[in-house]
Amino acid sequence: MKPKVYITRKLPEEVVSRIREVCEIRMWEEEEVPVPRFVLENEIAKIDGLYCLLTETIDRTLLEKAPKLKVVSNMAVGYNNIEVSAATDRGILVTNTPGVLTETTADLTFALLMATARRIVESSGFLRSGQWKTWSPMLLTGQDIHGATLGIIGLGRIGEALARRAKGFDMRLLYHNRSRKPDAENRLGLEYTDMETLLRESDFVCVMTPYTPETHNLIGKAQLALMKKNAVLINTARGGIVNEDDLYEALKKGTIWAAGLDVFEQEPIPLNHPLLTLPNVVTLPHIGSASVKTRLKMAHLAADNLLQALSGQRPAHPVNPEVLKQNRSLALRQN
Ligand code: NAP
Repeated sequence: MKPKVYITRKLPEEVVSRIREVCEIRMWEEEEVPVPRFVLENEIAKIDGLYCLLTETIDRTLLEKAPKLKVVSNMAVGYNNIEVSAATDRGILVTNTPGVLTETTADLTFALLMATARRIVESSGFLRSGQWKTWSPMLLTGQDIHGATLGIIGLGRIGEALARRAKGFDMRLLYHNRSRKPDAENRLGLEYTDMETLLRESDFVCVMTPYTPETHNLIGKAQLALMKKNAVLINTARGGIVNEDDLYEALKKGTIWAAGLDVFEQEPIPLNHPLLTLPNVVTLPHIGSASVKTRLKMAHLAADNLLQALSGQRPAHPVNPEVLKQNRSLALRQN
């Protein structure tokens, strides 16, 4: 009997057909509306494998309704939408899609940094709304990127790719991580600092950590107060790492100069959110990895992980590999 799989959003046919060859599938067919929780609760009761996106909350309560579930394959590198400990407790493997989106997300992060520093979105609106009357010495002036100091909090795959881009702009590169990366320091001329030094000395601060209990509100009032008045904060990691109320206050009062945000505590961000009233904020709808090539690679990689796990092989990207060693491991849980 073919394993049963539920896919939580309409995927490109070339990916679906690969899964359909070996699995019995059901799929949420909407592209612009996430699967409602009650539908997911109903579907998860019957399946062996779940293919999901970061828009789905896969928590303990949901997993308790899934007696046969062996694998949750997340089409994202971040997996803060999944209660991994609950999956591990139940012998359910969780997988993600690291690596294939690194360069694309670094491109977007640098693009957002540049757009924020040089007021690109604001300037475009200025022109289109008929406010452009003449060239003027200090009109729409922003911050220089070349030669400035970039501080990267979380020097992982994407953080390093960002540093490589910044090197081409002759930026001074600082980073903070829980562990030092001497190899990257040598290759890219990065300087390791504590958080406080990074915040005090950087013209641009980019947050590139995963969202975990430890990184929840990593940037709040106290951290923003340490930053330069002309500093720009960029967050393309996850909402919740930056405290949005504190960020709003800092931007409004001029504690820092501007912010570029691709991610928010609540997504989509409500249109009446105070941050959206500020001219010195550039906002994007979580498009870090959104290039055609990369999204296809992510979709295929998530399918690979799912199919490998369901066939009893070790998937390329397990988040909780300890499950593979448990008695109830996938290899032993043949149907
Ligand atoms: P990664 O390679 O795992 O890098 C994360 C880095 O953060 C690691 O170097 C880690 O090093 C560091 N870190 C973890 N906890 C930290 C803490 N408490 N303080 C300081 N540093 C900490 O992950 P990645 O592939 O670069 O992706 C990073 C994140 O970007 C993902 O988790 C995801 O949420 C986000 N992302 C967003 C988009 C988007 O569309 N906007 C796209 C892709 C990824 P140590 O453990 O040594 O500290």
